[in-house]
Amino acid sequence: MSFRTGTFEREKTGILRPFCPAHAVGSLPEISLDWLKSEGKKLIMLDVDHTLVEWKQENFSEPVLQWLKRAKEMGFQLCILSNTRRIERLARISETLGIKTYRGKFKPSSDMYEMALSDYKVSPDEAVMIGDQIMTDVLGANRTGIDAIWVQKMHGPEFSGTKINRVIEKIVTSILYRSLVTDTDQSEEPESSVPLLERKIVRQFIKFLFVGAISFAIDFTIRHLLLFVIKSDDLTFGMKMGETVQKSLPGLLQNAKTDSIAFFICAVIASFIATFNSFLLNRAFTFRIKDRKNAGKQAAKVYMVAYVGLAINSTVGTFFFHILPGHPKISSFLATAIGAACAAIWNFFGQRNFAFKAK
Ligand SMILES: [Mg+2]
Repeated sequence: MSFRTGTFEREKTGILRPFCPAHAVGSLPEISLDWLKSEGKKLIMLDVDHTLVEWKQENFSEPVLQWLKRAKEMGFQLCILSNTRRIERLARISETLGIKTYRGKFKPSSDMYEMALSDYKVSPDEAVMIGDQIMTDVLGANRTGIDAIWVQKMHGPEFSGTKINRVIEKIVTSILYRSLVTDTDQSEEPESSVPLLERKIVRQFIKFLFVGAISFAIDFTIRHLLLFVIKSDDLTFGMKMGETVQKSLPGLLQNAKTDSIAFFICAVIASFIATFNSFLLNRAFTFRIKDRKNAGKQAAKVYMVAYVGLAINSTVGTFFFHILPGHPKISSFLATAIGAACAAIWNFFGQRNFAFKAK
């Protein structure tokens, strides 16, 4: 699961409350210092590796340096709480940045946090911890009653012990994300300035295609079973249904091919089940819908889109099954693929721009 930004509803996180940050942001320079001031924060506690600079590195980016400079100018107290064992590097960093570092029991112990609170004579609610790790930075801050801002890890390698923490972090945050209320992933990016493959719509469409592949496999399998495998009285389910419908509507379907009617019926059934799968996965995975208040409205809209998509899928699929030459298994496969592709394009834009459209 990729990193997500926003504000957490910490009171709703239950037993995971100690691991829950107050906010998640993409990087340190994205944190508004004016907002921290307005929240009454006076002391900013900073992690080093992958928060201020990459692991083992000392080449701070200009935005990080500017952010730290402005924080000092605004009167914030700054200090560093790091678990690093490389004392000499930490001393150099402290000197370069002009920020005091604390040494004590490693985070998530509250030791270093309490030393800093005591030194700067501030209460826990006047301090904020900024770090990239849930299991150290955030947990330690919460244990001391300090708000934590979780920043996305920078690029580059990590300490082997950190990699183990990341596994636990992924599991914990997959649950914590359920209480993420201000999901900035819903906001529009300035698309023109973002590389093509990183654009939100492109990322969404890739995910949508991935979900679509699963739905297609479900659709194809069900159609195949109904048309060729499941039998009763020597007739497949599809042909039996086709015959039944043809007999019940003799005026309308007298001249139609029974196998075409069978295909249409099986397509409707299979597409319905596959579209339901698409709805569930796209809601949770592609469009990341968290707002439970509007779930009913969203579901209704999704089904409206899905039913039109179902009609497109079945109609286009049936049309191509009818006109494509060759063995029914081959033409069924190709017709299903064409129908699903047309429906996928419709469903993507229908779900994105109508059902799951951000306010
Ligand atoms: Mg770190």
